Amino acid sequence: MSDKQKRNRQPGFSTRAIHEGYDPADHLGALTPPIFMTSTFAFETAEAGGEMFKGERGGYIYGRTKNPTQTILEQRIASLEGGEAGMAVGSGMAATSCVLLSLLSAGDEIVIDHTLYGNTFAHLTQTLPRFGIKVKLADFTDIEGVRETVSEETKMVFFETPANPNVRVIDITEVATIVHKVGGLVVVDNTFATPVLQRPISMGADVVVHSATKYIGGHADIIAGLVISTADIITQCRQAGLRWITGATLSPFNCFLILRGLKTLELRMERHSSTALQAATLLEGHHKVKSISYPGLASFPQYDLARKQMSGFGGLVSFELDGGIDAGMKMMNNLELVTRAVSLGDSETLIQHPASMTHAVYGPEERAKHGISDGLLRLSIGLETAEDILEDIEAALNAL
Ligand SMILES: *Cc1c(COP(=O)(O)O)cnc(C)c1O
Repeated sequence: MSDKQKRNRQPGFSTRAIHEGYDPADHLGALTPPIFMTSTFAFETAEAGGEMFKGERGGYIYGRTKNPTQTILEQRIASLEGGEAGMAVGSGMAATSCVLLSLLSAGDEIVIDHTLYGNTFAHLTQTLPRFGIKVKLADFTDIEGVRETVSEETKMVFFETPANPNVRVIDITEVATIVHKVGGLVVVDNTFATPVLQRPISMGADVVVHSATKYIGGHADIIAGLVISTADIITQCRQAGLRWITGATLSPFNCFLILRGLKTLELRMERHSSTALQAATLLEGHHKVKSISYPGLASFPQYDLARKQMSGFGGLVSFELDGGIDAGMKMMNNLELVTRAVSLGDSETLIQHPASMTHAVYGPEERAKHGISDGLLRLSIGLETAEDILEDIEAALNAL
């Protein structure tokens, strides 16, 4: 972006999603950023290489930690989330792992919300304790409970909002206020909302992680993760988490695909949100539906908080049918357009059954405790013509 465009005010979200961190004049006029398919970078002189390793000279050394296509993506996502710096990695799980393993040590305590993406929950509750990190659980929708669980020992808290799979919403500002009083770090997984609908750093979060596999990539063709934070924290996560702990580098080609996805992110989120509200309204009014969870419905328990914290409600809808799991399985098999698949945030509308799929790593008792009932179904509303999505859902319900 030229200085002229930057002069008066910060450009809007989509302008930054399309231009931030890239000037065609630096790359032979190429409108689209080049894909730097190189593993290593030549040093101008023998001395220059040593200076770069010592951090006395800028530039690129080796592709595990830094590549120019990746740098453009990192600057762009940092701007969109309102953080100082960003880091692109090989998956959402890699993003979370880089943060946890770079910033926590044996003896530290982390407090986590009950409801998390299944593999994140497994990593936090099964891996971290093996390395001497104490993990405490709380229901983060209950702020008093968070206040009671967080202590002087708490080094970090971790949660998702809206949470996977039941889209519960957590008050980022309230949690951050409690955690900052004891000097802890607040890490938010912002995969479901994306920076279009919610910017946790502006509400006090210290670190944001993403599965860019989902809405940010947006086209179901890559696995990728992103971390956004202060320059200092990102340096720690890159030097330890990416460089020597996980080595989970994102390929330059996949960086390019995410840069392409970002250009339409705002447009896509508007469409996902508007069709999801229609689908949620249809489900809420259908006699075969026992319960429904969508932050944009007035019946949603945290509707006021969702309206305060988010500028739209996203594309994820969770619901349960009368007849529980059996009816749920039948309904999934009745669908013709809506596709049975895990993942979310794609152009295609997807449906899955958390208890047997994304959240199967939770034990049945844990699932019950965390509000992930056996009959719960999760819809990720896509970008197809709304009428077609609604017709398919309604037909599948009517055929039960
Ligand atoms: C999918 C998902 C992840 C994991 O991301 P991957 O890219 O699959 O590694 C983490 N958090 C949430 C909320 C997710 O939906």
